[in-house]
Amino acid sequence: MKIGFIGLGNMGGPMAANLAKAGHEVTGFDMADVAIEGVTLVDSAAAAATGADVVITMLPNGQILRTVADEILPAMTKGAAHVDCSTVDVDSAKAVAEQAEAAGLLAVDAPVSGGVGGAAGGTLTFMAGGSNAGFAKAAPLFEIMGQKAVHCGASGAGQSAKICNNMILGVTMIATCEAFALADKLGLDRQKMFDVVSTSSGYSWTMNAYCPAPGVGPKSPADNAYQPGFAADLMLKDLRLSQQAAESADADTPMGQIATDLYAQFVESEDGQGMDFSAMLPRFEKRGRG
Ligand code: NAD
Repeated sequence: MKIGFIGLGNMGGPMAANLAKAGHEVTGFDMADVAIEGVTLVDSAAAAATGADVVITMLPNGQILRTVADEILPAMTKGAAHVDCSTVDVDSAKAVAEQAEAAGLLAVDAPVSGGVGGAAGGTLTFMAGGSNAGFAKAAPLFEIMGQKAVHCGASGAGQSAKICNNMILGVTMIATCEAFALADKLGLDRQKMFDVVSTSSGYSWTMNAYCPAPGVGPKSPADNAYQPGFAADLMLKDLRLSQQAAESADADTPMGQIATDLYAQFVESEDGQGMDFSAMLPRFEKRGRG
């Protein structure tokens, strides 16, 4: 397949490289100066999109996605597919899909889970929204870049699944960190705390796979001075998207709101900027109830 790939950053770069390695003809564009193995770079998003069977975007946010869509959709060949893998707001995902379909294109929103390790290793999970025809066209590429792709429903459904997942992740990380900080103050050994919780009803991905306590559980950013990993400010972005979606769907998400407020405080007024999202643990350790 001829693939256009726009947004070759931490995630997009290795995803594009994996497509090229699998034998696809990949033409890429990024605003920044990048070099990606096997990818032919061109000097505009429209040039990367011209003549492609599938155009993939992997961009920072919905506003940038809308701007790039204005450039690429008119340049694309009718019947081709636009697959957006960025994490963006549901409204932008739906608007861009409508614009693509009006131009005679297939459209899929397909955000990912798995982080930069998953992007490099081709083990991402894709959660997709859009028509059956769009999903079918993108599916062979999801197989190369990931290990699982779930077709969640119509346009926007992929983004909906992503922000619901990440709302759970943010809330759970906070709960895990505050429980560790409480256990510390109760004089409990951290390894014992891990041994109990990781095999009891308090277990979770944040405890078992991404433990926020250094030296305990599998290797995680806590063992690397809380360098990301998954940055606290990206967690904040996703939590804000969840609350924006909750507002427009009139859904009651009090835990999601508290997690959003705590990450906002951590990133904007405390020392969370540039730290992994599990650095909530040292934050809680420093605080008492007052
Ligand atoms: P990144 O900042 O490393 O990459 C984004 C790239 O987009 C950059 O290289 C930037 O130069 C480029 N870009 C920005 N505006 C552009 C434009 N107008 N035209 C062309 N290129 C442009 O970010 P990332 O970590 O690769 O994340 C990309 C998306 O994936 C985000 O939506 C993020 O929320 C999501 N995501 C990230 C992770 C992660 O662990 N990093 C995990 C899952 C999902």
